[in-house]
Amino acid sequence: MTPGRPVPPPLAKPITVDTSESAPGTQALAAAYGGTSPDSGLVPLTVARRAPKEDDVEIAIEFCGLCHSDVHAVRAEWRMPTYPLVPGHEIVGRVTRVGAAVEDFAPGDRVGVGCMVDSCRECESCLDGLEQYCERGNTGTYGAADPRNGGAVTQGGYSTSVVVDRRFVLRIPEALDPAAAAPLLCAGITTFSPLRYFEVEEGDSVGVVGLGGLGHMAVKIAKAMGAEVTVFTTSESKIEAARELGADRVVLSKDADAMAAANRSIDVIIDTVAAPHDLNPYFLTLRLDGALFQLGLPAGDMPPVSPGLLIRRRLAYAGSLIGGIAETQEMLDFCADHGVASETEIVAADQLNEAYDRMVAGDVKYRFVLDASTLHQPSEKADV
Ligand code: ZN
Ligand code: ZN
Repeated sequence: MTPGRPVPPPLAKPITVDTSESAPGTQALAAAYGGTSPDSGLVPLTVARRAPKEDDVEIAIEFCGLCHSDVHAVRAEWRMPTYPLVPGHEIVGRVTRVGAAVEDFAPGDRVGVGCMVDSCRECESCLDGLEQYCERGNTGTYGAADPRNGGAVTQGGYSTSVVVDRRFVLRIPEALDPAAAAPLLCAGITTFSPLRYFEVEEGDSVGVVGLGGLGHMAVKIAKAMGAEVTVFTTSESKIEAARELGADRVVLSKDADAMAAANRSIDVIIDTVAAPHDLNPYFLTLRLDGALFQLGLPAGDMPPVSPGLLIRRRLAYAGSLIGGIAETQEMLDFCADHGVASETEIVAADQLNEAYDRMVAGDVKYRFVLDASTLHQPSEKADV
């Protein structure tokens, strides 16, 4: 275990984040954990959630997965966010209240919210059910100005409740364990979507590069689709873990002979590594018409891809971003049908800072999930 960064003491006066344009007095106050500056760590906050509007679903959060993006966002490693910022986009809970126009959800239903809570709903992508690729940009679950709610900045799932438009609420099948289902809403759909897009089926050969939160889901989902799965890892210590997850073959990527032996053996590669790395050795493992989907977003430059490798085998080098709402529901139902869920380590609110440090150090198998019942009580009234 890596030493945790010092945990700041709880604020004497909880900060209340107003996420609503509703009249005062109609909001519900929710306990939350979030950042107040790039180096504040996560501290207790109180969030005012809007009263459900006619299309809204109010959710009492049970669990929220911890995604690497959360760390980058809270620590301002990608861009300077608006603080305070409550992260969390792998949300599972139960419906508590619904707006008058909501017919597909009722109080008591187990539901989920992933990486987005709205989109323009009218561009070509949105009309095709590809809201993640909304031409005007989807509304992220946290840290995004929400045009349909007065431009208020959205606040995520490290919290006791959230209010989301019904169009962006997913149904969590009761067959799924709620904590293990939470990471499906980002890590699960991010790996499911490219596998579906490539139409992976029984007998196909799938490669997975990297065995973290995304990689372990890619292994499980590809196996459930009937594929033969090869895990590429730089670490000998992960060979056994990959096999335990169901990998049929593990290739040490720094072993040139092992990589050469894997030449032309794979149809599609799901590359989950976010650090810059050379893709060319992986292209050599692909068969004719193979594809490599890159899911991790490196902060630095990647070594150049050799066009000759792509040309000689008609290979595709592609990216992919989460999945649309309908596809996310399909993924959840698929996981319930096939008994697929994330491997998790449950953490309490006061362990979040330590969990972040362990995530950065790669010391988690394979996803931390916050138990929202461990959050403090919200302050009694909005004071900011
Ligand atoms: Zn995520
Ligand atoms: Zn759109």
